[in-house]
Amino acid sequence: MRSLGDSVAVLKGVGQKRLTALNKLGINTINDLLTYFPRRYDDLSLKDLTTAVDGQKVTVKGQVITAPTLSFFGRKKSRLSFRIIINDNIYNVTFFNQPWLKKQLELEKPIIIFGTFDRNHNQIQGMKILNGDKSDTYDSIYPSNKEVKQATIKQLIQLAFTQYENLLIDIIPDWLRKKYRLESFHDTIQNIHFPTSPMAAQKAFRTAKFMEFFLFAMKLQLLKATQRQIEPAAQIAYDTNRIKAFKQQLSFKLTAAQQKVVTEILADLRRPIEMNRLLQGDVGSGKTVVAAIAILATISAGKQAAIMAPTEILAEQHANSFAKMFADQPVNIALLTGATSALARRAMLPSIKNGEVNLIVGTHALFQDQVDYDDLGLAVIDEQHRFGVNQRQALHQKGTSTNMLAMTATPIPRTLAITMYGDMDVSVIDELPQGRKPIKTTWIPSAKTNSALAFVKKQLEAGSQVYVVTPLIEESEAVDMKNALAIFERFKAIFEPAFSVGLLHGQMSDQQKDAAMADFKNNAFQVLVATTVIEVGVDVANANTMVIFDADHFGLAQLHQLRGRVGRGSKQSYCILIADPKNTIGKKRMKAIAGSTDGFFLSQKDLELRGQGDITGYKQSGMPDFKVADPVGDLNILTVANQEAQEIAQNSDWQKKPENVQLAKYLKYHQTITTD
Ligand code: ADP
Ligand code: MG
Repeated sequence: MRSLGDSVAVLKGVGQKRLTALNKLGINTINDLLTYFPRRYDDLSLKDLTTAVDGQKVTVKGQVITAPTLSFFGRKKSRLSFRIIINDNIYNVTFFNQPWLKKQLELEKPIIIFGTFDRNHNQIQGMKILNGDKSDTYDSIYPSNKEVKQATIKQLIQLAFTQYENLLIDIIPDWLRKKYRLESFHDTIQNIHFPTSPMAAQKAFRTAKFMEFFLFAMKLQLLKATQRQIEPAAQIAYDTNRIKAFKQQLSFKLTAAQQKVVTEILADLRRPIEMNRLLQGDVGSGKTVVAAIAILATISAGKQAAIMAPTEILAEQHANSFAKMFADQPVNIALLTGATSALARRAMLPSIKNGEVNLIVGTHALFQDQVDYDDLGLAVIDEQHRFGVNQRQALHQKGTSTNMLAMTATPIPRTLAITMYGDMDVSVIDELPQGRKPIKTTWIPSAKTNSALAFVKKQLEAGSQVYVVTPLIEESEAVDMKNALAIFERFKAIFEPAFSVGLLHGQMSDQQKDAAMADFKNNAFQVLVATTVIEVGVDVANANTMVIFDADHFGLAQLHQLRGRVGRGSKQSYCILIADPKNTIGKKRMKAIAGSTDGFFLSQKDLELRGQGDITGYKQSGMPDFKVADPVGDLNILTVANQEAQEIAQNSDWQKKPENVQLAKYLKYHQTITTD
């Protein structure tokens, strides 16, 4: 029986050699071939050159009026030139590197040429000579290589389509296709390869994109359903009164957003299902106290909790603030980082194993082999974007059934939230505690650096502290340090002795970093010159100003994150970006960050401005590769496709409904999500 999974070798004309060549293009099966879509289309309908614009691709019909001359130059390079006449106008035509075309040219004979029009020279740079039959009006152009030519691919697709078109059945339920005016799968494939108009191709592509996103989203839903198997061990029977009392003794009232996410998390903990939740909240939105409540709930049920931070400074800050918050609670804290001495470690491990220690705070040292837990009920990961999926998993595997709470301050653009974290439930803290004043951000060119320095001086004189972030020229600690040192010297020369200037960079030892950060926090110095190591975490409420040199070298999300280091107290805070962006995109980015304090808006903007195809960084961190759809440019389609998939999967019986038979069948054989 034939199926779309058949090897392309079944097609006439595909021998071993051609098969290997097709495989190289990623074409193995008939299905691969039929979904090998054109890169672009050439419009081959005749154009009027008197109205065509310079550089336009045109098809023209004329008469050859001069004998063609063929000249060779270099190795294998050639130029074929002649003139044609179209409605009394004479044009030069050149073809490069297609010497064989000379044979097709005959004086006085009509000819149809497709090429690029050069208006200034009244010339056409030819791409091909057409034979003028009807099928030539709209031509699909496929990505090809030396071994498999355009024409071959086209021919094979045509062949496969005629032989297999009756197998192109619909996977997307009918009602869904009607709702979004999508074409049938059969017509989609037909109209993408053999469109009768540009519109027809466009419409078909819309369906193909929807289909790709929708099937991806359905797979995510299935993944989520498998992860959610009932695990009685994951149930946390926490003490409600303890939590109430804890909230009451806090020096502030939770914001409505904090309260909402606390409710979501506690509901997850109570259920006999492993929690897999992502907590998103902008810098300063108060995620730590939310984590504290989840931790206290876990401990009140007699289980252990762990919290993992990306740096030692941050782990220590957490250990200190939890020690304070939990002073009156039966919580035994251990701090376990790379800096923990072997001796202290040896003493600590048994009490983690026997459950005496019930809150373990640390860095990735937390999931090393030697660390055994008694009953790890909750693992919190702070600044989760700093960790890979594997590290998340490793910590998860430390317990038999551990609830996971991943926290991030990097607002995840909707695109990535769906494509990378779609298997997690998401909670969002979308408001800042009251009384915070939005950070005032300005962008100035480097020629005006002096005005920034004058502003810094004014702030220092008013008793505030200032961060100075040094340029990121390369992703190299050594080079970044050199920049930091240069700026450090400059600031010392300007501001000392009236104020002291400190330095923090990535090549310092963790101890030195901690010391520098602690000194700044204690106001031992008033200006801290730093590299991006300050990006995550430490609170210095008295610092209200940040100056960022060469700001256009940073990503928007990173600038937003850095800027979040100020604006933590009640004073008005400021961020001054010094940058001379070279192009319009750079300028747009600076305007965006100066104009908005909304992290979500900025992160989506960041993705948009990086442009299609330039999201490699995210791809490396696990963003799936889509064939036709672009998760950034086609965000609207992605969003609705994802919504529909969620809605369908919400009904646990969806697979049994007649309308979903084909969908269920398809997913059964294509369950896995590939990210390569
Ligand atoms: P982030 O979400 O960036 O980790 P933190 O948890 O460090 O933010 O909180 C930032 C600061 O805001 C801390 O000093 C914290 O004590 C304070 N804070 C948290 N929640 C509130 C609230 N509801 N009202 C006032 N201050 C709060
Ligand atoms: Mg934090």
